[in-house]
Amino acid sequence: MYDIIVIGAGPAGMTAAIYARRAARSVLVLEAVSYGGQILNTPDIENYPVEAHISGFDFSTKVYEQAKGLGAEFAFEKAVEIREEDGGYTVVTPKNAHRAKAVILATGSENRKLGLEDEDRLVGKGISYCATCDGNFYRNKVVAVVGGGNTALEDALYLADLARQVYLIHRRDSFRGEETNVARLKEKGNVEFVYNANVTKLISEKRLKAIEVTDKLDGSVRTIELNGLFIAVGRVPENQNFANLIELDEAGYVRAGEDCHTSAAGIFVAGDNRAKALRQLVTATADGAMAATEAVKYINSL
Ligand code: NAP
Repeated sequence: MYDIIVIGAGPAGMTAAIYARRAARSVLVLEAVSYGGQILNTPDIENYPVEAHISGFDFSTKVYEQAKGLGAEFAFEKAVEIREEDGGYTVVTPKNAHRAKAVILATGSENRKLGLEDEDRLVGKGISYCATCDGNFYRNKVVAVVGGGNTALEDALYLADLARQVYLIHRRDSFRGEETNVARLKEKGNVEFVYNANVTKLISEKRLKAIEVTDKLDGSVRTIELNGLFIAVGRVPENQNFANLIELDEAGYVRAGEDCHTSAAGIFVAGDNRAKALRQLVTATADGAMAATEAVKYINSL
């Protein structure tokens, strides 16, 4: 029986593990893929205090080593179910059933898809959801980025230094992402902004060859020939496996306030899968600290 099982080894989950270990609680962190979460794909973090520039990979590795160094255990197993039983929780993975007094859900979110025909088939054949992972395949080629948040802007900035031409396609005429990133993109000589437009068709043979883009204002359709399409249209929370135990909002985020308490006693939430106003690295790590502190208080009250 662990004191706390943390589900998800992104910044929120690993920070929760650090705080729980510093409170001398036993902690198991379960992670389906690899530590780091979404931030792993960010080439350059510039808005987290202390380091002016650090890659998502370096940041994640440092936090992982810090949590391990404090004695947090990690298991690379996907949590598929939580059961409330015998006065605690059982977290079920394909390999094991782990027991804990309290659980912290730090499952983050997964890539939102455009929902176009052939989108899944073309992943790795011209479609990518991660510019830092796949950008290098598109050196001196033509690519498009779709989206208007910081991910899309940062992807476009990264790709502008590699690709010959970058189209940045956004469904509105103003961006959700930071103005600093927009200004930097405007200084690049090889970025064309395509506003008020949706990607409406993927044209391919074995690989993606072109996309059709429909102007939302006049309905005109433009074909853009390209080698790669980077889709950065946000994320969807990964909470559905736990919806039997905790209350979610209409968008699938866990309903919880700043204290990170869910509707189930002993289950806490931290990071991007929580319903909140600002999803940033700094708010994810803050949630991790809060969720672990509240989980420790809960265990002390048992
Ligand atoms: P986001 O901020 O939710 O932006 C998603 C973008 O995709 C929006 O511009 C949205 O358009 C567009 N979109 C959504 N669905 C679409 C669809 N079906 N078709 C076309 N466009 C669609 O997502 P994100 O950029 O991944 O960022 C997630 C969070 O992480 C944000 O809080 C962001 O600031 C943060 N982040 C931070 C950093 C950093 O701090 N360095 C880096 C990356 C991300 P509308 O604007 O019209 O809704």
